[in-house]
Amino acid sequence: MAFECPIITPETDPVARLARLNGELRQASAQTILRAAIIREWPGEMTYVSSFGAESAVMLALIADVDPSLPVVFIDTGMHFPQTLDYRDELVERLGLTGVRTIKPNETERKVLDPKGALWKADTDACCALRKVRPLEPALDGFSAWITGRKRFHGGARMSLPVFEFADGRFKINPLANWTPDDVELFMEQRELPRHPLVAQGYPSIGCWPCTQPADDPSNPRAGRWAGQEKTECGLHVERNERPRVF
Ligand code: SF4
Repeated sequence: MAFECPIITPETDPVARLARLNGELRQASAQTILRAAIIREWPGEMTYVSSFGAESAVMLALIADVDPSLPVVFIDTGMHFPQTLDYRDELVERLGLTGVRTIKPNETERKVLDPKGALWKADTDACCALRKVRPLEPALDGFSAWITGRKRFHGGARMSLPVFEFADGRFKINPLANWTPDDVELFMEQRELPRHPLVAQGYPSIGCWPCTQPADDPSNPRAGRWAGQEKTECGLHVERNERPRVF
């Protein structure tokens, strides 16, 4: 059935807009959520921030169905597995994505704060701030909303993830919040999407190489991220005033 976009004048109050969107779309399919967000709510004002990790092909394929030119931000931390960079290029070509932009840490800051590329050994929060959080802030300028690929089954703080959020002056849309691991697997199979090469080696969640291990707990797909530390998130999804002060 064709998707219909009812004409709605967005509220100026983000709280009211959030309530309307979650009320209308919290049980909707990822496709319906994406179309409503990209076409109706924030045309020309949205981006997707992708890690090009284990499950990223799903969201990228869904976005390509709606608008393959949608801006997609990839943060090249300088610490990715080479397989991730190859996988990014493969997905871009396969899905016909024309809006992918790669951003990097500020080189002057990196030379001062992490000249040897070993900050992660001493302070993972400071390293994530330097290599992920700070580069993303200017990259989001001009966008009113961004899409994330987070899902409730990832556990931790994500277990209570709403479909629409508002943080640090922008809306965040989580079209896959309701998805299960089986939903991801089925979609990957049905669409015959290529897999990140490290998935077959036991990595269900993939970030930077120093902070990613194969997961030894099947019930926690992010068990291999910052293993042995309390840290479970890089900070991109922590509100500015709740992030640890690192420098
Ligand atoms: Fe640094 Fe690890 Fe964070 Fe990557 S995930 S930015 S290597 S601390």
